[in-house]
Amino acid sequence: MKKTVLVTGASSGFGKETAKEFQQNGWNVIATMRSPEKEQELSQLDNVFVTRLDVQDQASIETAVQAGIARFGRLDALVNNAGYGLMGVFESAALEQIQRQYDVNVFGMMRVTQAALPYIRKNGEGVIVNISSFGGMTGLPFGSLYNSSKFAVEGFSEALSHEMAPLHIAVKIVEPGGVSTNFRNGLELVKNEIPAYDPYMAGFFSRYPKATEHLPKASAEDVAKQIFEAVTDGTPRLRYVVGQDAQFYIDLKGNNTEGDYVKAIRDLFIN
Ligand code: NAP
Repeated sequence: MKKTVLVTGASSGFGKETAKEFQQNGWNVIATMRSPEKEQELSQLDNVFVTRLDVQDQASIETAVQAGIARFGRLDALVNNAGYGLMGVFESAALEQIQRQYDVNVFGMMRVTQAALPYIRKNGEGVIVNISSFGGMTGLPFGSLYNSSKFAVEGFSEALSHEMAPLHIAVKIVEPGGVSTNFRNGLELVKNEIPAYDPYMAGFFSRYPKATEHLPKASAEDVAKQIFEAVTDGTPRLRYVVGQDAQFYIDLKGNNTEGDYVKAIRDLFIN
């Protein structure tokens, strides 16, 4: 019997490529997005069911999961991919901005996971992949809100992986580096009116691209292939890094003392 995956944020970037990757590999795909009426490509593909799901709207989540089950009869894997970045000076961020970042990147992922779990559990096995970032392992200046939301994704996923293991449900974390998608267009920038931060913020945004410019970047297709592998490799492996830039930051933290790691980040972006 064909297996079925549900993907959130399938309108673009990693989500869309992931939907295509699973479809090409013979899976049924519940491709969910906020505005399915705009979707031109996935709706043409066999065994892909495009439906509305806004991770901030509980009713839309339940309706999408039920409609997917009605269409394909089962759910074997979930890819929690929907998300966006809120960047800038923490002190200047509005509480509503902070709450929305967490509502989409963290609580949205939790809502969809709770809605999907009863169906995945019914199969006696399954996989949940949560899309984090290298920024879920390393915090950078002016990334406190996005980084901390992805740190939450990491902590949630790691803890849940142990809780799900006896039920034969694997929880996996994919950590991409910088990849060209709509992510950059969708970035929300905090408006800052505190001049004390200005030189450091300008310095960070000009230095950030240079820090890993010597390293080849992964593509959205690479990320989708890694997500497919995470779902199908049959191992309890927890983390999958995609891209040499992501590996650079993760190694900087993992291969150094904390003092050296903190100094290296400050030297790169602040000092
Ligand atoms: P993208 O092209 O902007 O795609 C993001 C997707 O999330 C879109 O489908 C977007 O839907 C959806 N989304 C946003 N808010 C949503 C909500 N409330 N409910 C449902 N869907 C929502 O960016 P991407 O690069 O593929 O990002 C996918 C994931 O990868 C995100 O979690 C991001 O944090 C992570 N990531 C990206 C990078 C990178 O460099 N690209 C690196 C590391 C991690 P709409 O089309 O409706 O806005």
